[in-house]
Amino acid sequence: MLTAHAYGATSATEPLSPMTVERRDPGPRDVLIEIKYCGICHSDVHHARSDWRDEPYPLVPGHEIAGIVTAVGSEVTRHSVGDRVGVGCMVDSCRECSQCRQGQEQFCRNGFTLTYGAEGEDGEITQGGYSSHIVVDQDFVLRIPEGIALDEAAPLLCAGITTYSPLRHWGAGPGKRVAIVGMGGLGHAAVKIAHAMGAEVTVLSQSLRKQDDGLRLGADHYYATGDPGTFEKLADTFDLIINTVSAQVDLDAYLGLLAVDGALVSVGAPAEPLSLNAFSLLRGRRTYAGSLIGGLAETQEMLDFCAGHGIGAEVEVIPADRINDAYERLLASDVRYRFVIDISTLN
Ligand code: NAP
Ligand code: ZN
Ligand code: ZN
Repeated sequence: MLTAHAYGATSATEPLSPMTVERRDPGPRDVLIEIKYCGICHSDVHHARSDWRDEPYPLVPGHEIAGIVTAVGSEVTRHSVGDRVGVGCMVDSCRECSQCRQGQEQFCRNGFTLTYGAEGEDGEITQGGYSSHIVVDQDFVLRIPEGIALDEAAPLLCAGITTYSPLRHWGAGPGKRVAIVGMGGLGHAAVKIAHAMGAEVTVLSQSLRKQDDGLRLGADHYYATGDPGTFEKLADTFDLIINTVSAQVDLDAYLGLLAVDGALVSVGAPAEPLSLNAFSLLRGRRTYAGSLIGGLAETQEMLDFCAGHGIGAEVEVIPADRINDAYERLLASDVRYRFVIDISTLN
């Protein structure tokens, strides 16, 4: 057993605080990772506060993990000591069901194992990346290409794949008009990736405060959703809209922005149920869909794509004792554009 330094939640209402977690000894197929950076995803806030379900506490969040391999089990072939690696939202799945065999572990029919807050293979509750070390099966460890700095790579393990996957699935590319709703962690990654795929990219943000950044990151157009004129002006415009908003939005208003056969895809996951008017879909044969992270092979493809296009996240690196402040800033949409914890500050 290895005692790792960590930062986590003791209940849904207390601020996060320093703690330790026990990591299992690496088994034959395991990789021990010394974590260097961990991104703060808005999902961490939802989990830490039991927004979606009653979580097991103590809970160490963090599923945007970047670090260095420091030990490998005897059967490990995919990674070596010294490798730059990442871990995202999953640390295991059944590997046998039809979805796992297709490389869609995120839809594992037997339920994949979340990086934190789930029962792991050793029967213990998994604990995430706000910690100094983690032990993960080699199949769930990704290679971080040399071209991406580790702090800028960490957020790609969730924000990157969660936006890359639907952009790929719905065919973002040259000639496609793609809108990204919300320019936070997921949204800013989506802007960069959609631009690199060759799509015409529009940001739909609450205000024009971040317009200069949006255009710099690759957007062709930027509109404020706080201005009702935006919805009139852009009616029937987009082939694909990716909604990254962590709160309720007026889905009917966004569906009205889709061209015929366009798709609105939600990746944002507010706690409350969503509702929409059927006619928003019937008119224009529009689709409303969702998307959940991405499989392991696709996550590696995304990392390689990002390295090839010089894409990393725009990060604000913070020490561990500012995690609670970062959570408040996320809730206030005050992030440019991903908080990343410098894990060396945990020790
Ligand atoms: P984030 O960094 O906080 O960004 C969310 C953005 O949404 C904000 O920056 C803001 O952008 C906009 N927004 C926030 N509140 C809003 C409101 N009340 N009305 C309109 N716009 C609002 O969060 P994130 O880390 O990108 O995560 C976003 C959501 O995706 C969360 O719900 C998270 O749990 C979910 N998520 C889902 C998956 C998946 O697999 N589907 C994976 C990761 C995360 P502007 O200021 O530009 O308007
Ligand atoms: Zn996430
Ligand atoms: Zn499976």
